[in-house]
Amino acid sequence: MHAQNDPISALKRYFGFDAFLDNQQEVVERILCGRDLCVIMPTGAGKSLCYQLPILMRPGYGIVVSPLISLMKDQVDSLIEKNLPAAFINSTVPFGEQIRIANQAANGEVKLLYVAPERFHTDFFRRFLVETPPGVMIVDEAHCISQWGHDFRPSYRRLGEVIDAFRIPQVCAFTATATPKVRDDIREQLHRPEMELHVAGFKRPNLAFSVVECSSDSSKFAEIRQRLKRKKPTIIYTSTRKAVELLSSELGCIGYHAGMSDEERKTAQERFMNDPCPVLAATNAFGMGIDRPDVRQVIHFNLPGSLEAYYQEAGRAGRDGENADCILLYAYRDRFVQEFLIDLSNPPPELVQELYTRLRELAIERKTTMLEVTLSELVPEVPGAKSDSQLSAAMAILEKANLIDRGYRRNNRGFLRFTEDLEYLASEHAAQATQRSRFIARCIERFGFELLQKKAFTFDELAVVSGLSVEQVRRVLRALNGECLEWNVPFAGRGTELLHPEKVQVDMDYQAMSAKREFELARLDEVCSYARTAGCRQAALINYFGENARSWHCGSCDNCSGSADGHTGPLREVTDAAEEGIIRRILEAVEEFDGRIGSGKLSQILAGSRSAELTGRGFHRSRHFGRLEALKQTRIAAYLKSLEKAGYIGRIERGEFPCIELTARGLEVLNEHAHARIDMPELRRKAERHTAPARSSGPLPEYDESAPLYEELRALRHEIAESRGVPPFAVLTNAALTELARRQPLTIEEAMRIPGIGPIKARTVLPIFLEKIRAFRASR
Ligand code: ADP
Ligand code: MG
Repeated sequence: MHAQNDPISALKRYFGFDAFLDNQQEVVERILCGRDLCVIMPTGAGKSLCYQLPILMRPGYGIVVSPLISLMKDQVDSLIEKNLPAAFINSTVPFGEQIRIANQAANGEVKLLYVAPERFHTDFFRRFLVETPPGVMIVDEAHCISQWGHDFRPSYRRLGEVIDAFRIPQVCAFTATATPKVRDDIREQLHRPEMELHVAGFKRPNLAFSVVECSSDSSKFAEIRQRLKRKKPTIIYTSTRKAVELLSSELGCIGYHAGMSDEERKTAQERFMNDPCPVLAATNAFGMGIDRPDVRQVIHFNLPGSLEAYYQEAGRAGRDGENADCILLYAYRDRFVQEFLIDLSNPPPELVQELYTRLRELAIERKTTMLEVTLSELVPEVPGAKSDSQLSAAMAILEKANLIDRGYRRNNRGFLRFTEDLEYLASEHAAQATQRSRFIARCIERFGFELLQKKAFTFDELAVVSGLSVEQVRRVLRALNGECLEWNVPFAGRGTELLHPEKVQVDMDYQAMSAKREFELARLDEVCSYARTAGCRQAALINYFGENARSWHCGSCDNCSGSADGHTGPLREVTDAAEEGIIRRILEAVEEFDGRIGSGKLSQILAGSRSAELTGRGFHRSRHFGRLEALKQTRIAAYLKSLEKAGYIGRIERGEFPCIELTARGLEVLNEHAHARIDMPELRRKAERHTAPARSSGPLPEYDESAPLYEELRALRHEIAESRGVPPFAVLTNAALTELARRQPLTIEEAMRIPGIGPIKARTVLPIFLEKIRAFRASR
């Protein structure tokens, strides 16, 4: 390859970095080869650079589709800061500015063009794409495309059409979370089934996962208070806005949820970024694009809805490579909260029909198919509607059925009419010395007598005509309204257009709807089984994401380190020469770095990890760098932990994270060749688990009596699943099956108290199971 154009020198030239992070180079090279890729790497792995660099290196420009305006802005700001040719076009950019940016992309002054997916449906942008085709389309946060993902965005769904319509030559998708189902969906929805899959880098050896069983909210609060005693940057995730408010008032911490105003959220974000030691309670609305590297613990107050949501949220801890904790507070009852949320996001078909009927009635009353009505206005109008979030889910179903189209706030039009003599106004404001004058003069110049009748405008359009910013237009109109003009402000919500007002009945895909609900319940089951696993927590998570963990275990989660049981393992004397050598090298390094770094960084250094090299602090020149490179970093971290527990290494609080130093006992080992005594995580953990007492009820029943019944029910489930051609969990989840076997209910009402058995199950499969239970009980 030409020296100018090899990835390493380009990396240095554009970004000033000396080396690639793990897995980056391979992806960059594949993109340069023109391949379509689906890249799944965790948050913080440096995915952006993987696509930015090839685009910068090649002629032409690339489009980066990104779901959130705030995310886009941060990315582009940081690129511009590095003097890289990037820009974004979204609804916040005035039309005139959009034209300028498009021209810059066409002539090579902008190479990285970030857009929100809605852009593809505006005439202007479509024309631009035809005239100036991009070399590649990058779909960032690609999991948004899948309705099986936690962040589904309908506008992402239409990207496949865009890719076909504009014959985009290369398409690459990036995301941090993707289960096998989501992965398939990405490739299918983008109409690129041949995309190469790259899954890498999910292990996070510096994160210690644990699950704390709590019987009530008050014990959760006690647990959190305990963990906040030592001040450290902390995020507490909850599943409801109400819980965020409760936590922030009880703990006096920052709160963040989607129900807050833009302004409040911005302030919360800024406080979180700027406080030296912030504690923040948030719903899952918080986090995308927020990049505070030194979060030391992420606590989940409620069960997350899925393991991928969990890993993404928990993974915001310890992005600086230093040790951090991820704690899930688990109460069995939490399951019901999540089930309730799942119910809200899967409205029953009757409700969807009710909503549609009401929308049609409104269209007739108002004599228009363009309805300006907010969800909260609709809640009291639709019988059976529980909340606006439930109606929002129902709207999404109508949208999918192609019965309605939901617009965007920015596209709503207000009505403008001038009420004074136009000639007089024109001469009065000819000098255009103020914003008002400019607005009046230019409107008259452009539209003349048309302005004496009501005319519809968006703020964007008026901004272009007047040469003012949207904000300035708003202010001017507020000031002039009632003086020389009339301005009826545009509808502030999302407009809803009825696409087929003649249709009375909603055709719904009942099977798909119930499959979606079942799927969400099954994901919840997966979270519960994570909470109850007796094996390495991180290995369980890694396996789930499709990276093969094999016999790997993290060494630091509650199960690996034994802290779940509240006691440490027995200490053993280290006599093996090789192991003594390892310990000696570790202690020497601890002594030399003497309280300047934490154990996460130290294990990176000893393992010779690239991440240690890249901090720019010269660690890779230390004589300790790579001295234990034969060992896995996690293994070294486990030794460090054990040495600390046994009192050879101490912690000191310095700066944002705890650093480590040698204790007097540690010195003794180093200088006087004393034998160290350590407690290392057992290696043959699996085999020993069988003899250990069960910590909590696993998915299998503990009662002998119900075991045969469980087997019978399971066989029955298998039969039903086969006959319907669905996976067994879609018939009934393991958890529900276990409960059935345990409680042996005889009536539908009794059985419906079991989580996972709702009205649909009660109608469809439950009677068959109840019959089996009755027969079983009769035979005893
Ligand atoms: P992701 O999208 O995978 O979550 P980002 O692309 O936001 O991750 O990158 C995370 C951080 O890593 C950014 O601050 C970025 O500047 C940094 N980074 C990326 N590549 C490198 C590299 N080769 N060397 C050093 N830092 C890098
Ligand atoms: Mg990213």
